[in-house]
Amino acid sequence: MRLSPHCYALTGFAYLPPWSVNAGFVCGEERTLIVDTGPTAQAAATILGYAETARPNNTLVAVNTELHLDHIAGNSVMRERGIDVYGHPSIARTDLDLAEDIAEYGAAIGDPERRGEAPLLFRGTLITNPDRLIDRDLLLDLQGVTVELLFVPGHTTANLAVWVAQDRVLYAGDTVVSDYRPNLASGSARDWRLWLASLDRLESLGAEILVPGHGRILRGREIEDEIARVRACLELALASA
Ligand SMILES: [Zn+2]
Repeated sequence: MRLSPHCYALTGFAYLPPWSVNAGFVCGEERTLIVDTGPTAQAAATILGYAETARPNNTLVAVNTELHLDHIAGNSVMRERGIDVYGHPSIARTDLDLAEDIAEYGAAIGDPERRGEAPLLFRGTLITNPDRLIDRDLLLDLQGVTVELLFVPGHTTANLAVWVAQDRVLYAGDTVVSDYRPNLASGSARDWRLWLASLDRLESLGAEILVPGHGRILRGREIEDEIARVRACLELALASA
């Protein structure tokens, strides 16, 4: 869906139940930035199709907002097309990680006889890590609109957010999830403290529209409400760590 003059969101790519993951893209006059490449090769092809349709003559570039496979497993589809993918150096995923992901997906299927069908969702999906490594903020000029890639560690060591100040649109990745429980599984108390600082940073931007990594798109007052909810989850986890 179109969110603003330059920003689009694609929501609800199916992944491990109960999760479904979001992505999006930002169109300038000459370049389009794809924000996350989806959980599978098919999702990546969908994202790419929408991005190319919105601005057919633009050159494309992509960014991974973190290291979990639901945000990056479409990278190979982008790289096969010669599209550069920005991401943090700690995104160094392996074929074994993908195999574990597929097994986890299979285990979530209720009917044991159907669990062998899990690889169908991932058909054609290959692990490809980012080729443009960044470990700090970066400005990208898309011509007509400038986007900021913001390093916001906490959920993982690799988290980036994409801020489009001109449109007041923020792609937060999993630093902010709406309605879903924030996933604390890959971090420790030290990471959660970083995450709280990253939430402060994102909140201070004053976004009017926020695309979370998972869940519904947030507007206006909903943004501070959901950031407060995620913050409370982290503080609770820290109190019992
Ligand atoms: Zn995620």
